[in-house]
Amino acid sequence: MAVSSGYGRPDYPGRRCRFQALAQASGEVDGWLITRPANVRWLTGLDSSNAAVLLTGDRVVLATDSRYRQQAAQTGPEVELLIERDVAAALLGWAQEAGLRRLAFESDDVSVGMAARWQEQVSLELRGLDSPVQTLREIKEVVEIDLLRRCGQIASEALQSVESTVEVGMTEIVVARRLELAMGQRGADDRAFETIVASGPNSAIPHHRPSQRAIEAGDLLTIDFGAKVDGYRSDCTRTYIVGADPQHWQWEVFDAVERAAAAGRAALRAGAAYADVDRAARAVVEAGGFGENFIHGLGHGVGLEIHEAPLLAARSVGRLALGVVVTVEPGIYLPGRGGVRIEDTCLVTEDGALELTSVPREFRRLG
Ligand code: ZN
Ligand code: ZN
Repeated sequence: MAVSSGYGRPDYPGRRCRFQALAQASGEVDGWLITRPANVRWLTGLDSSNAAVLLTGDRVVLATDSRYRQQAAQTGPEVELLIERDVAAALLGWAQEAGLRRLAFESDDVSVGMAARWQEQVSLELRGLDSPVQTLREIKEVVEIDLLRRCGQIASEALQSVESTVEVGMTEIVVARRLELAMGQRGADDRAFETIVASGPNSAIPHHRPSQRAIEAGDLLTIDFGAKVDGYRSDCTRTYIVGADPQHWQWEVFDAVERAAAAGRAALRAGAAYADVDRAARAVVEAGGFGENFIHGLGHGVGLEIHEAPLLAARSVGRLALGVVVTVEPGIYLPGRGGVRIEDTCLVTEDGALELTSVPREFRRLG
């Protein structure tokens, strides 16, 4: 949990104050049980696979098991610690003893069965609600923006170092592992998510897992990847042509995606409706005759998780705020033939957006 890379330490007490203010404003409950790992980390700094935190108007109780005792002890004197294997049961017991009457839990992180088992353990009322932490996490602080920018920089440099090594006959797996090594050499702690390297017909599958398929001359090659630093992530996709000049259909598809991505990025600004940003890009794809082949939303938030709020999609309701970090990633997928996706991670500003990933976007031939 210690911030080791020279970046500022997040203001965890400040975050908890903002959470408590937001949670109390609803007035529905007198405490919150936070279980989503990224939310626990955002509130306390503890990066643990088994931790939960309970917040009332004036108390903060963190539960984790003995493996994390040392890190948990660094969360500050105002955080009470419970070292228990079953963290939720420990915090529910604490809430009961403290006399809480209504306790909220994160409805998107707890199954119906789990909530029912919890309710059997305690007499206070448990209520599943949308987590206020998710909302707070949408707008990035300066310290978070610094890390997201660093992730984007590492990833961009790594990709450019690997581009020149790609050639016909190389397998998808080898490209993926080289890229991950290049990110590690540049200071990434890890990859941000499972790297996608999709060649030829595989490029028509948006979430293709790299395989032992050897790249063939004339293949489209889509690489979707990111770097992770201190828990934060970047997300970037580029599509290339390998070992041959592009055919007409490949040009056509690439051109539509490139223009859609530009339109999407141009639509980003504080106050823009999520659906309008999606529409700006989708309209370009539709005008090119490929509307049916753009089968996912335009983008998503990025931070401690690779997919977080907000979602930029046709049916999303809401508006971008200053300081939100989102991807713009239109794609066109022609089953059996190939596909193109271009994606960048962008910081929303007052009148536009700042790109945190920076790799040339034009249609380039490798190998
Ligand atoms: Zn991606
Ligand atoms: Zn993405």
